[in-house]
Amino acid sequence: MTGPSPLSSPAPLDLAALRPRLPSPVVELADERFARRGVRLLLKRDDLIHPRLPGNKWRKLEPNLRAAAASGRSTLLTFGGAYSNHLRATAAAGRLLGFATIGVVRGDELADRPLNWSLARCAADGMRLRFVDRATYRRKTEPEVLAALGADGCHVVPEGGSNAAAVHGCAVLGRELADVLGPGDVAAVACGTGGTLAGLAAGLGEGTRALGFPVLKGGFLGTEVERLQTAAFGGRRGDWSLDDRFHGGGYARTTPELDAFADDFAARHGLPPERLYVAKALYGLTTLAEEGAFAPGTTIAAVITGGPDPEPEPEPDPEAEPGQG
Ligand SMILES: *Cc1c(COP(=O)(O)O)cnc(C)c1O
Repeated sequence: MTGPSPLSSPAPLDLAALRPRLPSPVVELADERFARRGVRLLLKRDDLIHPRLPGNKWRKLEPNLRAAAASGRSTLLTFGGAYSNHLRATAAAGRLLGFATIGVVRGDELADRPLNWSLARCAADGMRLRFVDRATYRRKTEPEVLAALGADGCHVVPEGGSNAAAVHGCAVLGRELADVLGPGDVAAVACGTGGTLAGLAAGLGEGTRALGFPVLKGGFLGTEVERLQTAAFGGRRGDWSLDDRFHGGGYARTTPELDAFADDFAARHGLPPERLYVAKALYGLTTLAEEGAFAPGTTIAAVITGGPDPEPEPEPDPEAEPGQG
């Protein structure tokens, strides 16, 4: 396999030219299921940060793009599943900022099929797609596998975009929320790889806790969030916990209750929640509120990490691993 073709000069990096909407807006939502309990619900609209790099994808990519530019690397290489939000965001960032991009996609069977809408968008943004079989994909962090994928000289971003730099980027989200949340308040977020929660928790003010809702099943995420916080900060930071009850069966899976909740939320608020992540977090939060889990006077900020997909949702993938998102 051939390596990336280096550009003649380091990519110019002008993130401000992309006009990100930062700090992202905070809006209060009137929802009787919270109001009845004396709880205020805020939405932190990270989905509005940038149309092509929404939500936590901007927050996680930004420091990685800076690091790549600082090290003179002009090609980004990263990983994802067939419908990965992270792959799409990386491809868009590459096109907008002048990086070449390589996307390593889980599933070599995809190579022989027409590209789905998500991969087609990656390709349209100039991403070179490399389809690898699932066994190889599982070994993707091993040096020989990386070398065979042409990663030498590339800035390699892990699956889902979560590394120490990304966690620092997500800490900014926590610091933005420190303006609207105080002691006893809660920031809630859906979790794939856990990078967003790791940063969010670290950035919140003293006494504010972060609550993560894993969308994958398996119960491995606590270890992963700790690992990411240790990589970024040298140890565990902030007050965070996970509630594992709302994954709905796993990545891209759902239940009739979850679907009904999301449909009702869209009708109530005129805001269709993104289904793979955001709807699960909102469903979890609403259930907890109804269970009386939040003391009267609590303010909750739900991080809206992305907007609804423009296309049909992916089929459930039995081998789903963290970071498809
Ligand atoms: C990627 C993604 C997540 C998961 O973020 P992690 O940092 O991997 O936990 C959550 N919501 C949306 C909309 C995403 O695209």
